[in-house]
Amino acid sequence: MSVIAIDGTFASGKGTLGKGLAAHYGLPYLDTGKLYRATAKRVLDAGGDVTSSVDGTLAAKAITADELSDPILKSGPIGAAASKVSVHPDVRAALFDFQRDFAAQGGVLDGRDIGTVICPDADVKLYVTASPEERAKRRHTELTGYGETLSIDDVLAQLIERDTRDSTRATAPLKPAEDAHMIDTTGMSIAQVLQTAVSICDAVLTR
Ligand code: C5P
Repeated sequence: MSVIAIDGTFASGKGTLGKGLAAHYGLPYLDTGKLYRATAKRVLDAGGDVTSSVDGTLAAKAITADELSDPILKSGPIGAAASKVSVHPDVRAALFDFQRDFAAQGGVLDGRDIGTVICPDADVKLYVTASPEERAKRRHTELTGYGETLSIDDVLAQLIERDTRDSTRATAPLKPAEDAHMIDTTGMSIAQVLQTAVSICDAVLTR
């Protein structure tokens, strides 16, 4: 029962890598960002305020696994709202058990605090990033595919705002675990990133 923890910046390729590693090792995969996105969606649907810890915590406590496959969760506005709702310690606490229970069966989890808070004893910890410009380009392509019409500069500005909020918040900020393996995906293809990560995981898991 192996646990692979992946953390990293927004649009760094960690989700694609997480799915790839899960398929490679036959492990279940959890995109933990979806928990925060689903929480934000619940708050917005109820006409609440994502900057309110009370509204966010109420929503987080009600999340079910079924909601996580809703395609609307991938939208830009929900992602921005998720970053706001995720700063509240009570929201994070309400989502903790769901993630821990998932990891207890073994799996690949990606997010911002997996190696540091959710699975500090993970077998392998990866920290994935890429240059802001490359991440903005990738995210722009993705959002255009969903029909959203933003310029690359707008995407870059939002991405920097999101990274800053995620990495400077008081509770569970985005940062590499001390024992994380760093992967900078700038200029790498999806296959190259997967190959790099598999080499790291193989070396650790077969030890
Ligand atoms: O990864 P994704 O963009 O879907 O995450 C949306 C937001 O949820 C992030 O910007 C971050 O604020 C929050 N998040 C978090 N901890 C996680 C996963 C996501 O705080 N483990």
